[in-house]
Amino acid sequence: KIVVLDGYTLNPGDLSWERLEKLGACAIYDRTPQTEVITRIGDADIVLTNKTLLTEEIFAACPNIRYVGVLATGYNVVDTEAAKKRDITVTNIPTYGTSAVAQFTFALLLEVCHHIGAHDAAVKQGRWKASGDFCFWDYPLIELAGKTMGIIGFGRIGQTVANIAISFGMEVLAYDKYADKNLQNEHIQLVELDELLAGSDVVTLHCPLFPETEGIINKNSLKKMKNSAILINTSRGPLIVEKDLAEALNAGNLHGAAVDVVSTEPISEDNPLFSAKNCLITPHIAWAPIEARSRLLNIAIDNLEAFVDG
Ligand code: NAD
Repeated sequence: KIVVLDGYTLNPGDLSWERLEKLGACAIYDRTPQTEVITRIGDADIVLTNKTLLTEEIFAACPNIRYVGVLATGYNVVDTEAAKKRDITVTNIPTYGTSAVAQFTFALLLEVCHHIGAHDAAVKQGRWKASGDFCFWDYPLIELAGKTMGIIGFGRIGQTVANIAISFGMEVLAYDKYADKNLQNEHIQLVELDELLAGSDVVTLHCPLFPETEGIINKNSLKKMKNSAILINTSRGPLIVEKDLAEALNAGNLHGAAVDVVSTEPISEDNPLFSAKNCLITPHIAWAPIEARSRLLNIAIDNLEAFVDG
C-alpha cells in the first residue's frame, strides 16, 4: 500500500503516475495538511513525500511504514534518526533538478539585474507612451560580465551555476568545506568564506542545510559583503538569518536579494523579507519544471522498485 502525501496532482495529465500504480494500491494526494498525515498514511507500507513532514510521532502512529521516498534533493522533512531507529529506509533524489535549480538561480539573478516584471508592468500601464522615451532610472539595470560570482557550496548545482556564470563573462569564487581542489581553473578559484564574501558581486547559496550551515548568512557575514552585492538563495531558507538580511537591504548595505526558499514554508505573514527593499521571493519552485518533475518521479519509482526487489 503506497501513499503519496503531496504529488501536486491538481493539473491532470501533468505527470503520469501509471508506473507507480503498477507497484501497489496507491492513494495519491495533491497536498496533505500536517493534521491529516496520520489518517492518510494509516496502515500503508510505503510513503512518498515532497514537503510534508514525517516525524517520530507519525512513525509511531503508523507502524507499518517500511519505506519513505523523499521526492526532493534535501531530506530535512524526514526525521531520519527516528526512521533509522524503526528500520525504515529513506531515499532522496539528488540529481533530478540540477539544471532546473541552476537555471532558476540565474532567472532570479537576472530579474534583480533587469526588473523585467516592473518594466513590463510600467509599459502596460502606459508609461512608455506617456513619456515618449521610457525612463529606466526607477529600475536601474546591472551588467554581469566582468563581475564576480561567489558560490557557497560547490556541488552539482553550484558547479552548474558556475558554468552559466562563466558563459556570462563572470569570474567565480567558490567556498566548499569539502571541495576537490581540481575543480579550480582559470575562471574558478576555491577560497575561504570571508574572501568570497568580500570579493563577490553576487553571492549564491548552494550548500545543504546542516547545523553548521544554518545561519551562514547573518549580520556578520552580511557586513563583509559589498554594499553593491546581490544575494541569491535557492537552497534552504534557514541558511539565512532573515531579520539580518532585511536590515542590511533596508539600510542600503546590500543592493538586492532573491530567495526561492524561506525559514518557514509556507512563508509566515511576519517574515521580515516581505518588507525588505529590493527583495524578490518565490514559493520554492526552482525544482518544478515538468522535465525535472518527470525525472524526479521516474527516479523515485526506480528507487522504490529496487527496494521492493530487495
Ligand atoms: P550537492 O550535495 O551536490 O552539493 C552541496 C555542496 O555543499 C557539496 O559540494 C558539499 O561539499 C557542500 N557543503 C556541505 N557542507 C558545507 C559547508 N559547511 N560549507 C560549504 N559547503 C558545504 O547538492 P546539490 O544537488 O548541488 O543541491 C544543493 C542544495 O540545493 C540542496 O541541499 C537543496 O537544499 C537545494 N535544492 C533546492 C531546490 C529548490 O527547488 N529550490 C531543489 C533542489 C535542491
